[in-house]
Amino acid sequence: MQKSEVLEKVFGFNSFRSFQEEAVDAILEGRDLLMILPTGGGKSLCYQLPSLLMEGVTVVVSPLIALMQDQVRGLNENGIRAATINSDMNDEERQEVFTGLREGSIKLLYVAPERMSASGFIGFLQSLKINFFVIDEAHCVSEWGHEFRADYRKLHLLKENFPQVPVAAFTATATPKVEADIHAALRLHEPLKLRAKVFRKNLTIRAQKRVSNGRTQLLNFLQQHRDESGIIYTFTRKETEQLAAFLQSRHISARAYHARLSPEEKSEVMRDFMYDKIDIVVATIAFGMGIDKSNIRFVVHTSLPKTIENYYQEIGRAGRDGLESETLLLYTKGDEIQKRELMDSVESDAYKQVLYDKLQTMYRFALSSSCKHKLLALYFGDEGEACGDKCDSCLKAPVEQVEITKEAQMFLSAIYRTGERFGQNHIIDILRGSQAQNIMKFGHDKLSVYGIGELRNKNEWGMIADRLFELSAIQLGEHRALKLQKEAIAVLKGHEKVWIDEDKLGNITRLKTAAEEIEKDETFEAFRSLRMKIATQHDVPAYIVFSDKTLHELSRRLPKNKEEMLEVNGIGEVKYERYGEAFLELSRELQAS
Ligand code: ADP
Ligand code: MG
Ligand code: ZN
Repeated sequence: MQKSEVLEKVFGFNSFRSFQEEAVDAILEGRDLLMILPTGGGKSLCYQLPSLLMEGVTVVVSPLIALMQDQVRGLNENGIRAATINSDMNDEERQEVFTGLREGSIKLLYVAPERMSASGFIGFLQSLKINFFVIDEAHCVSEWGHEFRADYRKLHLLKENFPQVPVAAFTATATPKVEADIHAALRLHEPLKLRAKVFRKNLTIRAQKRVSNGRTQLLNFLQQHRDESGIIYTFTRKETEQLAAFLQSRHISARAYHARLSPEEKSEVMRDFMYDKIDIVVATIAFGMGIDKSNIRFVVHTSLPKTIENYYQEIGRAGRDGLESETLLLYTKGDEIQKRELMDSVESDAYKQVLYDKLQTMYRFALSSSCKHKLLALYFGDEGEACGDKCDSCLKAPVEQVEITKEAQMFLSAIYRTGERFGQNHIIDILRGSQAQNIMKFGHDKLSVYGIGELRNKNEWGMIADRLFELSAIQLGEHRALKLQKEAIAVLKGHEKVWIDEDKLGNITRLKTAAEEIEKDETFEAFRSLRMKIATQHDVPAYIVFSDKTLHELSRRLPKNKEEMLEVNGIGEVKYERYGEAFLELSRELQAS
């Protein structure tokens, strides 16, 4: 039989999808192959079809028993003899497979990677005629990938033990680094590399900061997708159930799906979804592997995914039929912090760092006002151009940019002055002159940056911090402490200006210039030495005279008379009578100078 005949008669398809024929040909020619094609792109066919045209057995390495069983079932239904050897099977079942292999009646054998290192298994394979090896989900090979599996790393033993047998590696997502790692780790020999375009033009991508639990945003979104199929990804099992119940209470047809459901419940939800009996599945990421429903019109994430790889795969489940589909990502900074903490237990420091970096890249993606499609393309090493009208960044009317170099410098300088040992809230508290216990405990109210950022509210400082993350000027270190990066130095030195979308900040007055700031510091110092003098005279601790906060306010306002003095926080009649005159005098002096 010819390729096209097998395609039609065995698989029931009229034509190849893009890249499939090239992949099939490479395998038939006995060439190594490295294929990167999105989930649902049809990778299985690329090795199943040539397997049928070749003598011998094809050995497929796959990471999950469920995936293997799925494939075997599908092949058997098409009348192809395929089998798996896995730990769930008893001896008898295993013997049956071994017999089938020896007789040559089994065309495809699916095994987990750890099987390859089991004693005697390689020897057994050497007694068979193997036409080629397949490494499915090949990104698991790489520590730079998002689903690293140590056993995949050992798969170089295939080329070592079977130097003449071609190897075909498949994955849905690989950055250029991961691609190079797969190539090297599997010892591929001049493989044909096929990589699909990352850009999915029928997907609209949106990311929004989640407001409280995000339900209002979600309902607004769902209103535009009545009676359509969609997936909503949540982070925890509990959330899937709560959200599904909430949607049901709004007469929206939804069911929860997560790993703890019984197999019967799982297949029921899966089936009802496939047959459009329910519109929406609210799921943890356990849902989706191997689902093949072409009319999914939307995918929502209710919190930040851990990696771009995960995110891209998950949104990729929408619009397989090529029709317009929408994706919505709801996120907060808190998501990043929460997910980061979950990674703290990862043993290998190097791998932990990879995961941290991936999470941060994901967060920056969500925040970014650059074209989302372009960011994805660049991330996966593809060429990217702005989509124009398929993402929120491109759809948004251009927003005025305002300069926040001054604020950025204040923020970075507060990090610097506290030794890069404190988290975002603490830094903001310092800038806003908070009297929180922690600020006092560390004496941070004595810093020159204390209270200099009062004109911005907490939210605005949060936005400024986000922007600095986005620019890679800062990064989260251990215990969420903010760390300065190379970019921060350029900003601090004034070599680099910082801008932000105007709509991200409130409408407030211009902040003081650096010169004014230094001047203000001197003013503060003048008040402080006066306080010291008076405290000594009265034999009381300095803070009993006036608090730092009061001194800061004094140096900012420079009151001209008693009335204005009394408006300052911390100066009442009694205190004014006791110490007021001296301070008023100094204030007038400073004003005149
Ligand atoms: P992947 O492994 O790339 O995620 P699969 O191999 O599971 O994707 O294929 C996804 C779906 O596409 C399957 O249902 C498969 O039957 C279907 N498919 C594959 N190739 C073709 C084709 N040439 N024409 C139509 N459907 C195809
Ligand atoms: Mg697959
Ligand atoms: Zn765009």
